[in-house]
Amino acid sequence: MSASVISDFIVPKSSGKAFKVNKGQSLRVIECEGKQVAGLMFFNAHNFKEQFMAEFSGGLSYFQPPDLGRIGSHYRLGELYSKVPYENLMLRVTDNKIGDHFLGTHCTKKTMEILQAPGHRSCSDNFAEALREYGLQLEDIYSPSVLNAFANITIDQKGDGSIQVKPPRSERGDYIEFQAEMDVLVAVSACPDDQSAINDHVCKAIKIQILEEP
Ligand SMILES: [Zn+2]
Repeated sequence: MSASVISDFIVPKSSGKAFKVNKGQSLRVIECEGKQVAGLMFFNAHNFKEQFMAEFSGGLSYFQPPDLGRIGSHYRLGELYSKVPYENLMLRVTDNKIGDHFLGTHCTKKTMEILQAPGHRSCSDNFAEALREYGLQLEDIYSPSVLNAFANITIDQKGDGSIQVKPPRSERGDYIEFQAEMDVLVAVSACPDDQSAINDHVCKAIKIQILEEP
């Protein structure tokens, strides 16, 4: 029997939203128009200190079988783990057709200064506003490294450590799907960066669906 959609909403362009997904439910992060990055943070819904650790999950994926799926150009990623000392499986990637995602920093105040746009809205603002509803502040977030879904970023393709940001390859309706392996609080940022190529210079909305088996 196929899963049915129990929640379906839009995260408007350049904004953030936090919400809970229960263990066993699936989360779909969907392109409304395409070529838009969605920054994703995950927390244990019952202990916000237990947070998704992007680098750690990417590192672990090196040791996992390739059929768990690929994420980004350098990491495969099928399983998302929380930071030490917890190291629990938080979510499993169950559909990852696009496969372009970046485990790394979201855009911040400093990013915008470097992009010659001081004061421009960043993912930090989106996450701060979204998480306020749950009593969390940016000071409570252990790292700005997140799962940047649909980000077409390559590292060191020339062998010199350089980072290249290209427009996403994702189109309207493309999605990444996760199954929650614990009750999680999810924070999504519809990245507000129209300064770099990361969103193809136009900010767009992101659609969210939560699905449940009957
Ligand atoms: Zn951003």
